[in-house]
Amino acid sequence: MSANSDDPKPSLESLLAQALHGVDPASGSIVPPLQPGTTFQRLPDGSAPQGRVYGRDHGVTLQQAEEILAELEGGEEALLFASGMAAAMAVVQSLKPGDRIAAPSVMYWALRSWMVAFADTWGLAIDLFDAEEGEEGLEKVIRPGETKLVWIETPANPTWHLLDIRRCAHLAHQAGALLAVDSTVSTPVLTQPLELGADIVMHSATKYLGGHSDLLAGVLVTRRRDGFWQRLREQHLNGGGVLGAFECWLLIRSLRTLFVRVRQASTSALTIARHFEGHPGLEAVLYPGLPSHPRHDVALRQMAGGFGGMLSLRCKGGFEGAKRVASGCKLIIEATSLGGVESLIEHRKAVEGAESPIPDDLLRLSVGLERPEDLIADLEQALAKA
Ligand code: PLP
Repeated sequence: MSANSDDPKPSLESLLAQALHGVDPASGSIVPPLQPGTTFQRLPDGSAPQGRVYGRDHGVTLQQAEEILAELEGGEEALLFASGMAAAMAVVQSLKPGDRIAAPSVMYWALRSWMVAFADTWGLAIDLFDAEEGEEGLEKVIRPGETKLVWIETPANPTWHLLDIRRCAHLAHQAGALLAVDSTVSTPVLTQPLELGADIVMHSATKYLGGHSDLLAGVLVTRRRDGFWQRLREQHLNGGGVLGAFECWLLIRSLRTLFVRVRQASTSALTIARHFEGHPGLEAVLYPGLPSHPRHDVALRQMAGGFGGMLSLRCKGGFEGAKRVASGCKLIIEATSLGGVESLIEHRKAVEGAESPIPDDLLRLSVGLERPEDLIADLEQALAKA
């Protein structure tokens, strides 16, 4: 874009709608092209054209998607991985044996289980704190000089416990640790963790960033390129779990509608949460946007323009009652995952197993782009039959 210094600066939302004004200089197409090349011809003097050597870190579409994501989170650099799990693993694998991690008891269950098992293999110590206790819980387990990473997820899947990012960053930094935030559920539309003091922000881009349930991806964005990030870059490059060009292209396409998708899902989720709070077929509605949420004040402080598209319903009738409601839905699809344009419902205890701290009666609802009144009618008929 040819711009003068006195031109008005467009908002991030406007820039994102155009993939950072990603007009293809070669063709003039207003759609960023898919460039699948994995290697680059050397120049006669042996140097690499535009510094590009090999696809694992220099893929053209990969770098374009990473630049957009760094801008979106206000960070210095972004790295894209083949899934959210691969992104999270790269953070943990950049720690050294003997380091300690502090993490909450409630977070994406597969990541928590992997972290606990891997800590043992890698010689790390992991200190889980009670998510109910919030930052006080973190304060109890953090060990100055020994804890090297505080990992948090907020809102935490699937109970939507909240942690105050600014306070967690303060506690982590006081102890000499880095703070990494899994912000998958809040998205950069609602929360900017780096601005609140986090060092690294992570997303399962499979969810809202991709948004159409048709790509697996994960991303990390750093506030600054420090020594830890350098180790992480090596994990990315040499571990090789990078995102393929087609997925990068799909992701760029999807990011262009991120703001409208997340805002609409948030508005619908709030309407649904308000409708079902106090419903005779339910024990509780868990949603950060309800004043009854124990940390609604934190949501108001660190989620701007909405409270996200995820909520949980605790059903009367326990494990079996919740399962009946999920399978009784006709419009809402019973399936795992979240953040897509279609609404999904899932009985989490059946997925996570008996060891999980998640209540037996909890249904996780990912609100998509269907009309909220249709979603409400579907849940009403499923509850009436259960
Ligand atoms: N973080 C959260 C909050 C998630 O919900 C998930 C997946 O459900 C992940 C991380 C893992 O991401 P992926 O499935 O892309 O590996």
